[in-house]
Amino acid sequence: MLYNEPSPLEVKVVTKRFGMPNSHSLDAYLATDGFKAFFKAMQMTPEQIVEEVKISALRGRGGAGFPAGMKWSFVPRTSPKPKYVIINADESEPGTCKDRLLMENDPHQLIEGILIAGRAVDAHKGYIYIRGEYRYLIEHMDRAIAEAYGRGYLGKNIQGTGFDFDLYTHSGAGAYECGEETALLDSIEGKRGIPRMKPPFPAVVGAWQSPTLLNNVETLSAVPAIIRDGGAAFAALGTPKNGGTRMICLSGHINKPGVYELPVGFNLLRMIHEVGGGMRNGKKLKAVVPGGSSCPILKAEECDIPMDFDTLAKIKSMLGSGGTVILDEDTCMVRFALRIMKFYAHESCGWCIPCREGTTWLKRMLERFHSGMGQKSDIPMIGELSKNMLGRTFCALGDAAAMPTISIVEKFPEDFEAHLNGQPCPYAHAAEPVFA
Ligand code: SF4
Repeated sequence: MLYNEPSPLEVKVVTKRFGMPNSHSLDAYLATDGFKAFFKAMQMTPEQIVEEVKISALRGRGGAGFPAGMKWSFVPRTSPKPKYVIINADESEPGTCKDRLLMENDPHQLIEGILIAGRAVDAHKGYIYIRGEYRYLIEHMDRAIAEAYGRGYLGKNIQGTGFDFDLYTHSGAGAYECGEETALLDSIEGKRGIPRMKPPFPAVVGAWQSPTLLNNVETLSAVPAIIRDGGAAFAALGTPKNGGTRMICLSGHINKPGVYELPVGFNLLRMIHEVGGGMRNGKKLKAVVPGGSSCPILKAEECDIPMDFDTLAKIKSMLGSGGTVILDEDTCMVRFALRIMKFYAHESCGWCIPCREGTTWLKRMLERFHSGMGQKSDIPMIGELSKNMLGRTFCALGDAAAMPTISIVEKFPEDFEAHLNGQPCPYAHAAEPVFA
């Protein structure tokens, strides 16, 4: 299923089958280069596969942007323990909605990527961890997996290659925290999904205490093209150290919201105006959430940049999981900060105090401020409280709550001041903010 018209500026690698009739079927997949990369990978050594992924400069598409080939090389493939490939399909970062499209439209591309990853790290079992709210997708993936088993693309001696691989889906229960890799592992083992101490990292001690390769859906969906066409061809699509394309979930106050596949490094302003059809109702750009709700916000004047991991890091933000949210001049940034904090306060697992108490206090302070009951001294206090959470929590959720809040207080103090002295929200007339 497609949710938006494609843009002529897209470069389609992982989405190339989107829009084709029955693109989710094995027949459609096989008719369009499907499983060619798998057969090629079977002729390569595991080291050659890992090297090709390194050459591609593929970086994890789940949020952290860690180089995928390096992650693969950390798995001790000669360990006598069983090894696992676990696919993070828990996509729950507000603003991000692309992994579900990959699973809906091209599930066999993901399965092929998983098989190649399994071959590279000597794993013979995999689990796709799908967020609970995506129940229809679990059934959809189960059908694709059954089709692959039925035609000999999963199971024992796949297509006569001697390679065995079993694949299962596993449902989350809708907790944002279970997108964190070690919480996901606990959840998949049937425990409460809370993060584990790191190190050891999952590559060495992961699922059931065994070496585990954990990758996001989009990351593994890119692997067939990398092996089929070569890592260098994929790398050339992006910028140095940021290879390939990225699915960008463009939402907010623009004319053509949707999910678009663009080369990594595509200019953000061009993305808004040429891909997204410009600002809705001719309004001015005020701010951009570059890669999901946990990323520090950019002001309009910071947006003439290539969207790659390193450029975003240089300006103290992140490319994140590809959820790019565009905010116009009528957006109340206090309300926006409050909306984000409500989400994190709700999703905090409550295990460590700075996150549990910090998100709750920040939510209350922002609620009070937005209702006109705030004081001038609250403005720096909101920033300070957020900074005190940063780096002091057990997992990255505390940072994810703090970082956008710090950036909003620093970059939009005038929006806070406009709510002082009992004044009503100056943007109350405007449309509901995104994420509302
Ligand atoms: Fe739980 Fe938050 Fe601590 Fe992470 S930072 S372990 S979500 S309380």
